[in-house]
Amino acid sequence: MINLILIAAPGAGKGTLSKDLKEKYNYVHISTGDLLREAASKGDELGNTIHDMQTKGELVPDEIVAAALKQRLQEEDCNNGYILDGYPRTVAQATIYEEILQQLHKDLGIVIVLDIEKEQLIKRITGRRLCHGCDAIYNIYNEEMAPKNDNICDKCGGELYQRSDDNLESLENRYNTYLEKTQPLIDYYSNKNNLYRVDSSRGKDDTLKQVEDILNKLGDSVDKN
Ligand code: AMP
Repeated sequence: MINLILIAAPGAGKGTLSKDLKEKYNYVHISTGDLLREAASKGDELGNTIHDMQTKGELVPDEIVAAALKQRLQEEDCNNGYILDGYPRTVAQATIYEEILQQLHKDLGIVIVLDIEKEQLIKRITGRRLCHGCDAIYNIYNEEMAPKNDNICDKCGGELYQRSDDNLESLENRYNTYLEKTQPLIDYYSNKNNLYRVDSSRGKDDTLKQVEDILNKLGDSVDKN
C-alpha cells in the first residue's frame, strides 16, 4: 500500500482518519505526537522536557523527533504502507524526512491535506476524549463520536481522559504554529505534484470516503481486512 502523509491543523481529524484506515486496510499508524508522548512518559530529563513542550503546544526539536521516527520506521510492520500523522510539520522536517527515506530505501508516497475552518477545531479539541485502555478517540460534542458515558470507553470499558494540550490556550499556540510553520509544506508538496486535498468538516465517515476515492483513483490495491 502507498505511504500517506497527513497534513492538517490540530483537531482536523488526522488521528481519527488514521485509526479508520488502520482498521479497514491494516495501515500502520505512526503519530509523532504519540511517539513523543511515549518518550515523555519515561519521566527522565528528556521526557520531562518533551512533556513541557507538548503541554505548551511548542514544536519539539527536529533531532529528537527525527530519531524517534527513524527508529519506528525501521520496524518490520512499516514495510507494507504506513500513515505519517504529525510529521513532517515544517519544510526543514520534510528535508530531513527525505534523507531518512533514502537511508531506509522507502517511498514518500502521497500527501493528504485535511481542510477545516478554525471555528470547528475548538469543539473538536476541547471535546476530544481518549481511552487509556485501547486508544479509541471520542468527542463529547459530536453525536457521531460521543461515548455512551462521558468517562468510559464503549469498546473496552477503559477510562477516558483529556490530553494535557487539548485546551484553548494550547490550541491557540498549536494553531498559530500550524499556520506559520506547517502550511508552507502545502506549497512544498504541491510543487512535487503528490498532494491531495480533502474537506474534513463533514465528519469522519465522509473524510474516510474522500480518502478512499483518492486511493482508488490512484489504483492503489488496498486489501480490506
Ligand atoms: P499531535 O499529537 O500531532 O497533536 O502533537 C502533539 C505535540 O507533539 C505537538 O504540539 C508538539 O509539541 C509535538 N510534536 C508532534 N509531532 C511533532 C513534530 N513533527 N515536530 C515537532 N514536535 C512535534
